[in-house]
Amino acid sequence: MNKGLLIVLSGPSGVGKGTVCSMLRHKMPELVYSVSATTRLPRQGETDGINYFFKSREQFQDMIARGAMLEHAEYVGNYYGTPRDFVEQTINSGKDIILEIEVQGALKVKETFPQGVFIFLMPPSLDVLKQRITGRGTESQDIIDSRMTVAAEEINLIRYYDYAVVNDEIDAACHRIQSIVTAEHCRKERYLASLAESMQTASEKA
Ligand code: 5GP
Repeated sequence: MNKGLLIVLSGPSGVGKGTVCSMLRHKMPELVYSVSATTRLPRQGETDGINYFFKSREQFQDMIARGAMLEHAEYVGNYYGTPRDFVEQTINSGKDIILEIEVQGALKVKETFPQGVFIFLMPPSLDVLKQRITGRGTESQDIIDSRMTVAAEEINLIRYYDYAVVNDEIDAACHRIQSIVTAEHCRKERYLASLAESMQTASEKA
């Protein structure tokens, strides 16, 4: 059986990764979503185990020490990380999984899973990004400033990604991502691997 795809959707905070992912959940119900762990406090309306696994710093550090994180990053004063087991079990069962994570973490995943599909979600412009971060109304000015500084640095790292998707309009961005996933499933390497496996099985039976 072919393994599932590990899809990493990354890009600066405020670019709309969360919104795009929520819409993808409706459009691509077959796609599995990785729930991250974080030490940041829940925002209003967020639920433990659904939006994030909310952890203390001690709990998070313990997960890192046990090797339970596929990647983790410290971002604007808090830890964020992807629990490893769930991701590995999902792709080994042949299902596709999507990780919605920031850029440092995405680059770490690339070291472990270079065969992953790395998609960078771009804001139409830095001005639009600032409006989106400010408009959310949940962050202090200091946090907005540090998120903008980090965002400018992150956009420079786009060269390490396979695809760039501009989030000018959510429907259009989701459509582009769906097309990427379809194309990745048609890669010849996936067919060659399963062809080699079935030829091997056939020759063992003969
Ligand atoms: P927020 O606090 O707005 O929910 O997330 C802040 C940033 O952390 C976002 O860019 C989000 O994509 C990223 N993030 C969420 N989960 C993870 C994770 O598991 N690993 C990493 N490296 N970043 C994450």
